[in-house]
Amino acid sequence: HGWWRNVPIAPKDPILGVTEAFIADTNPNKINLGVGSYRDDEGKPVVLQCVGKAAALIDGEFQSGESDLSFVTESVKLAYGENSGLMQERRVAGVPALSGTGACRLFAEFQRRFQPESSIYLPMPTWSNHHMIWRDALVPQRTYRYYDSESKRLHFAALMNDVKNAPERSLFLLHPCAHNPTGIDPSEEQWREISHLFQVKKHFPFFDMAYQGFATGDLQKDTKALRVFLNDGHLIGCAQSFTKNMGLSGQRVGCLSILCADERQAIAVKSQLHQIARAMYGKPPVHGALLVSKILSDPDLKALWVHEVKGMVDRISGMRTTLHGKLEKLGSSVDWKHIVKQIGMFCYSGLKPEHVDRLAREFHIYMTYDGRLSMAGVTNANVDYLANALHEVTK
Ligand code: PLP
Repeated sequence: HGWWRNVPIAPKDPILGVTEAFIADTNPNKINLGVGSYRDDEGKPVVLQCVGKAAALIDGEFQSGESDLSFVTESVKLAYGENSGLMQERRVAGVPALSGTGACRLFAEFQRRFQPESSIYLPMPTWSNHHMIWRDALVPQRTYRYYDSESKRLHFAALMNDVKNAPERSLFLLHPCAHNPTGIDPSEEQWREISHLFQVKKHFPFFDMAYQGFATGDLQKDTKALRVFLNDGHLIGCAQSFTKNMGLSGQRVGCLSILCADERQAIAVKSQLHQIARAMYGKPPVHGALLVSKILSDPDLKALWVHEVKGMVDRISGMRTTLHGKLEKLGSSVDWKHIVKQIGMFCYSGLKPEHVDRLAREFHIYMTYDGRLSMAGVTNANVDYLANALHEVTK
C-alpha cells in the first residue's frame, strides 16, 4: 500500500554514488577521489584551527537568530571587497543561505518568480547539481561552451561566441574561481573581455563561488572575476559557500547576494529573498553563520584562517607536482601536464569511463565517470599507488 508504491528509485547522484561504492569496498588500498572536500595528508577531514577557536568564543553567545546580520555583511565584504563603496551605498541585497547549494536554489527561485521568461546559461561542463537545481526551480536551461577536451584548455573563442549569440539580457552562471570540474579559469584579461561582452549584450552574471581561496591560495586574488565585473559597473548575483574554504560541510553556511542599482531596490530584493526562503525552510541554522562571522570579524582568527586556506591549497598543489612527477618517472606515454596546470580541488584528468571503471574494479580507486579526480584525496601515502594505477590503465 501507499500512494507512492510505484515511485521508482531515484537515479544515483553521480558524485554521491561514488562514495557509496567506495564505502562498500573492503580493500585496504582503496582511495576515494570522488568528493571534493578537503582531506589532510592522512586522508582525514580537517577541522580548521580557526573554526575550533571561534567555536569556543561563540559558545556562550546569545544565539537569537539576529546574529546573521553581521554574517551577511562580513560574507559580502569577503566577496565584493572590504573597501568597495557598494557596502556604504547599501546596494547589496544579501541573505544567509543553506550553503552554496541553497544559495543557488534561492536565486533560481527568485529568477523564476521575477524573470520567468529567461533561461539560465550553464557552462559545459559544470557541477552536476546545477542542472538539477535550476530544473527543480522550473527554469529552462541552456549551456555555453567552456572546455576543449582536445587541448584540455578553456575554449575561450567558443565561450565568447556563445555569450555573443545568446539573446540580450540572458542570465549566465559563471564560476569565478577554481571551476568545478575542469580546474581551469579564464585569465584576468579574458574576464575583462567576457565582462565587456556582457555589457554589450546586457547579460546578467550570476557567480557561484564555492571555492574562494582554492584557485590561488589567496582569498582576495580569487575574487578577481568579481572585481572586473564590479569595476565595469555590472549588477551581479553571487552565491558564496563556506563548505570548502572553512571545512564547514556539515554546517551548511552560505550567502546569496544580489547587487542592485540603489538601496531601494536592494531592500525590495532582500525582502523577496527572505519571503521565498521563509516558505521553503524558514531560516538557515545560526551556529555555522556565527562561526563564520566570528572568524571574519576577528583579525587574529581571520589571519589564522587565511594562513590555513593557504596551507590546504599548498598541500593540494604539492600533490599535483608529486603525482605528475611520478607519472613521468613511470614513463607514461600520456601527457599529464594538465595535472599541474589545473587549479582548485580537482584534476579533470581526461580519463574515459572505461578507465574510471578499471580503476575502480582493479585498483579500488573511485572517481566520477567524467574522469574528475579530487586532488584533496591524494596523499603522500597513496600517491605512488595512484600514479601506478593511472599509468597501468592508460598504457
Ligand atoms: N557550487 C559548486 C560549483 C560546487 O562545486 C559546490 C560543491 O561541490 C557547490 C556549489 C555547493 O556546495 P555547498 O552546498 O556544500 O556549499
